Amino acid sequence: MKLLYLIALICLFPQSEENPLSSDNAGPRRSFEDIKREIAGYSDVAKKIIDLAIHGKAQNRSYERLAFFVDTFGPRVSGSRNLELAIQYMHKVLKEDGLENVHLEPAKIPHWERWEESAMMMKPRNYSIALLGLGGSIGTPPEGITAEVLVVTSFDDLHQKAQEAHGKIIVYNQRFVSYGETVQYRVRGAVEAAKVGAKASLIKSITPFSIHSPHTGIQEYQSDVPKIPTACISVEDAEMMSRMSSRGTKIVVTLKMGAKTYPDADSFNTVAEIVGSTYPEQVVLVSGHLDSWDVGQGAMDDGGGAFISWEALSLIKDLGLRPKRTLRLLLWTGEEQGGIGAEQYYKMHKENISNFDMVMESDEGTFMPTGLAFTGSDKARDIMKEIMKLLKPINVTDVFENGEGTDINYWIHDGIPAASLRDDLTRYFWFHHSQGDTMTVQDPIQMNLCAALWTVVSYVIADMDEKIPM
Ligand SMILES: [Zn+2]
Repeated sequence: MKLLYLIALICLFPQSEENPLSSDNAGPRRSFEDIKREIAGYSDVAKKIIDLAIHGKAQNRSYERLAFFVDTFGPRVSGSRNLELAIQYMHKVLKEDGLENVHLEPAKIPHWERWEESAMMMKPRNYSIALLGLGGSIGTPPEGITAEVLVVTSFDDLHQKAQEAHGKIIVYNQRFVSYGETVQYRVRGAVEAAKVGAKASLIKSITPFSIHSPHTGIQEYQSDVPKIPTACISVEDAEMMSRMSSRGTKIVVTLKMGAKTYPDADSFNTVAEIVGSTYPEQVVLVSGHLDSWDVGQGAMDDGGGAFISWEALSLIKDLGLRPKRTLRLLLWTGEEQGGIGAEQYYKMHKENISNFDMVMESDEGTFMPTGLAFTGSDKARDIMKEIMKLLKPINVTDVFENGEGTDINYWIHDGIPAASLRDDLTRYFWFHHSQGDTMTVQDPIQMNLCAALWTVVSYVIADMDEKIPM
């Protein structure tokens, strides 16, 4: 039986051994040595890009453009006038930059506003708790919710104390493990608290470090569970209330939130291109998101990613280069609410998915770059490792796993190769979604390096003889 199966396989794929890279429909028909030689041939172009970005007349440009942008428009939460003014501005300046096919593609995005909010500790002493309502939270009645606090350290702890939870305000004082793991308390904290009859939930901010700053972000209600108001509080206040309650001290808090959700708003994904010389219909997508939370300036999340993506097209244009495939800049809208703008873009364009060569998103900071994260086949990964060798002049050549990003995941699910920028994340979550996300945390030299990496990778992929194999 086994032998028969093997013979059948050999008959079905008679050529599969001759050309290890040719068995995929879209795969290149050349040997890996040929591909390596082709990529090594880009070393002069890569050096020119790096020089222009880091030492030449383009140095600090992405930083300076971003500084003007965030100082002018401020934070750009989904559904806000700030965001729409920022999008109209980008539409104008991308045209002025001489990019091609600059246009806006409509998307409907959530519109939530926090309005006035406060949390006053009434017992054991009067104290104003630093607070940021979570995205999408309902408000409280105008007089607020006054209730005793129940502090828990985990969902398990909450379930064990379920009998005591009814009518209380749950304070989550969970341990920070990693953003990816701990963020579930922000996302599901209200639902789990409501299930045991709590009136509201306050979540210790998802950050490893704090100077008394609350950090907002999206949270999700569940249709079969009552909605309760929910907000983030500082690490310091969560820990203080935890100490108080472990001493047996009764804590009473009055929570007031004016938060309100409005009908979905009209918005746009912003698009600009350098049209490919040979295969204009084929696309390498470079992206970041223009929306942010409604605090700070959204300079780090994700102004930096959006502006190094713009910079990639600017640098290529400045050098008079035109890759074989189209390099398409996408500045997403409604990312913070769960990739809402990107989802609509995907639905509108997925019929052309066979033309998508690679999707790239920078949305995890533009601090000191450490490499490129990649999602794709082993064959494609080997090619990415060769491309990253071109970044030897700046000593950032690593290729990591997990090239995902909220806005590009739709394409990844369909098997399109994807990459995201990797950088030093040490401080990222200190500022993330807080008043601290301002231009002050950005660094022009680090942004130059990120832009150089982003540009070399996107240009070479767009210009190679063949698409990256799936
Ligand atoms: Zn982001």
